Formats: sequence, structure tokens, C-alpha cells
Amino acid sequence: MSGTTYDVVILGSGPGGYVAAIRAANHGLKTMLVEEEFIGGVCLNVGCIPSKALIHAGETARIHEEAQEMGIEFEKPTIHFEKMQEWRAGIVSRLTKGVERLVAGNGADIRMGHGRIVAPGQIEITNSTGDKERVQTKNIILATGSRPFEIPGFSFSDERIWDNARALAAKEIPKSLAIIGGGVIGLELGQVYANLGTKVTVVELMNQVLPGTPRDLIQPLTRRLREQKIDVLTETKALGYEESKDGLVLKVEGKKGEQEIPCDNILVTVGRRPNSEELGLENVGLKANERGFLPVNDRLETGAEGVYAIGDVTGAPLLAHRASKQGEVCADIIAGKPAAFDAAAVPAVVYTDPEIASVGLSEEEARNEGYEIVVGKFPFAASGRALSMNATRGFVKVIAERESQ
Ligand code: FAD
Repeated sequence: MSGTTYDVVILGSGPGGYVAAIRAANHGLKTMLVEEEFIGGVCLNVGCIPSKALIHAGETARIHEEAQEMGIEFEKPTIHFEKMQEWRAGIVSRLTKGVERLVAGNGADIRMGHGRIVAPGQIEITNSTGDKERVQTKNIILATGSRPFEIPGFSFSDERIWDNARALAAKEIPKSLAIIGGGVIGLELGQVYANLGTKVTVVELMNQVLPGTPRDLIQPLTRRLREQKIDVLTETKALGYEESKDGLVLKVEGKKGEQEIPCDNILVTVGRRPNSEELGLENVGLKANERGFLPVNDRLETGAEGVYAIGDVTGAPLLAHRASKQGEVCADIIAGKPAAFDAAAVPAVVYTDPEIASVGLSEEEARNEGYEIVVGKFPFAASGRALSMNATRGFVKVIAERESQ
């Protein structure tokens, strides 16, 4: 056991963990950040940042279509995918190195290894060569995030079956891609590949893409998916896949019975599961809920004394800025400052084309909560700014309480 007693040890260096580490160190707390795979977590390495980079690259690759309308003509672009991927990797590398410098520069210690609670106030860190170190700490923040769900019959042990990380780091543009799961990640990545020339098919179990999102918000997107010739099969279940002489064949069952979708790769994006196993929760009397998440109160407390949790491991909404805000609040609370995490207005953006951004209650949620509401709606097609940017798909919608407006 090292001689130092830390004020706080944070497990996981995603947008929750690294922000908590910087804030805690700024408060003068003796802080350690432990990371087992990559500094910056899912968001910086295999999530938000690389996906947004490829979304931008994909949109740039089809700008010639739109430019024609404005009287500008380009040759059809040539895509050097390897170079595009180097550019994406460069962005990730700059950001993750920057985060590492920021954390260290603010005075927090960083350890690479798997962190586990072995007793109240005691963390064991096992590095990649199996060496173990024990540290003593007054507080622990669990910021261990989430990983993709695997579904039976589509094991990630087959490299042609993609998770988000593989889809973002692909070496070649597949000629055809089947996507199981029409949620945010599936649609964002589906549009990237469609823009790069891939034939994309999305298979969704529910009766609409982005399940849970109000129908009217989805309409401009479904129109765009049609224009991009992305096939969307709703109320359809993926059954399994087989090899064919040209690649793979995905077997699905839907409204039209059984169907076969030939493809080079299958991307599985059916949701994410929390990294709450192998944390030694039992050693502080903690248990994850039936879905593996660690629920917390508005002080980010787990119920075990001195053990806090933030970010994806605490449950929905699984968003980077929410994790970061919780990280700040948690560090403030440990430093004895008045703070609480209020989830009343967590903004959410779906970076599809067109994008869908929302904050606060939906129309249905507001009604269900008993509010009498008024709804204002304005189409982008009537907005001068939108017209001048050739971005007329969609609308703005505002929901207000009738009396107070
Ligand atoms: P994570 O980022 O998951 O980081 C957790 C870290 O903990 C990981 O690095 C992991 O290696 C480490 N770890 C786990 N267990 C241990 C342990 N025992 N010891 C040490 N280290 C451990 N969100 C947005 O808000 N906007 C977006 O545009 C967006 N796009 C996304 C696109 C994709 C493709 C994906 C997959 C996600 C996207 N998200 C987006 C979600 C966002 O990435 C997550 O909400 C965010 O990363 C959660 O942060 P976190 O700190 O909770 O955990």
C-alpha cells in the first residue's frame, strides 16, 4: 500500500471521470484518476468525437450534390478513406493527449490499470502486466461508463460484426452495411456510410427509428433517410446471419415475413450496458440494479459511504455533457461546497442529417405531468437564415405552460 491517503480516487477517465479529476484537484483535493483502457473514455476515443469527425467528413463528401443548386459544380469527389481515418485518429489523439496534460497539469495523479474496491476506502489497481498497487482514499467516484450490448447470434468475436469502435475505425468503406438498431448511434453511423457510398439497411425492432422520440421530430429525418436510399425496416427482428460467397447475409423477420439482406458488415447498435461488474461493489455493500446500473441521488451518492457514481454507469440519459456536469457537481460535493445535480433540463442532440436537438419536456411528457400547454412551431422553410444556408428541412418547436407562457 502506498503511504499517501488520497482525498478522492476516480475510476474511469471518460468525460465524467476526467472532469471530476480536474475539478477535484482544483479544489485542492489529493486526487487520483485510474483508467484501464484509454484516457478520455468512450466519448473521446470511440464515441462522440470520432463519430462527429466522420459525420463531418461524410457530409463534405456529398457537398457537390447540394452545390449544384447554387451554381457551383465540382467533379464527383474521390474518397481516400485511409487518409480520412488518419485525420479522424489525429483528432482523437490531440484531444486525448490534451486531456491527459490537463489532468496532470492540474495536479491529479493518473494510473493506467483496472481499479477495484477491495475494502471501504481502499482501491486495488491492476496494470496490464498484472502488477498490483493498493491505495487508500477518503472518497471514491465510480465513472466507469458503458459498453455496447452484444446480442445472441451476433458475437463481436467475428470481426465482420461491428460495434461502434469497429465502425469508426474501419479500414475500408463497405459496399453494403446492415445496421441492427435504429437508435442514435445506428442512424448517425448509417448516414456517414451512406454519404460515403455504402448501401445501408437499418433494422429496427420498434415501430419507428429513434424509439421514444416524438413522431413529428422524426419526420424530417425519415424523409432524408429515404432520399439517401437508406432502407429502414421497422418492426423487424434480426434472426441471425450466414456467410455467402460475396460476404454475409443477414436474416430478419418483419411485417413481410422473413427476408435476407446481403451485406459486407453488420453493425450492432442495440444499446449500451454499464461497466459495473468487477468493481468490488460487494466490498462496500453495494449492488447494481437489475440492469446493472448504479442509481444515485442528486448528490451522486450511491448509498455506500464515500462512494459516488457519475456518468453512463448511473443510467440514462447516456450523454457526455451529463457525465461531465455530474463530475463537476460530485467534486464540489466532496470538497464540501453546496451543489446538487438537477436533471430537469439536460439537452440532447442527435447528429443525424437533419439534426434533432431538444431540451426539457416533450409535448407528451408535459401533458402527462399535468401541465396545460401551448405549442409554437415554425418551419425552417420560412426562415431566411435557413433558406440562405440551403438547410430548410425541419422546424423549431417550443412548448410552454399556457398560463405563465
Ligand atoms: P465513458 O466515456 O464510457 O468512460 C469510462 C471509462 O472508464 C472508460 O475509458 C473505461 O475504460 C474506464 N473503466 C471502466 N471500468 C474501469 C475500471 N474498473 N478501472 C479503471 N477504468 C475503468 N454523447 C453525447 O453527449 N454526444 C454525442 O454526440 C455522443 N455520441 C456518441 C457516439 C457514439 C458512437 C457512442 C458510443 C457514444 C456517444 N455518446 C455521445 C455517449 C457518450 O460517449 C457517453 O455518454 C460518455 O462517454 C459517458 O461518459 P462516462 O465518463 O460516463 O464514461
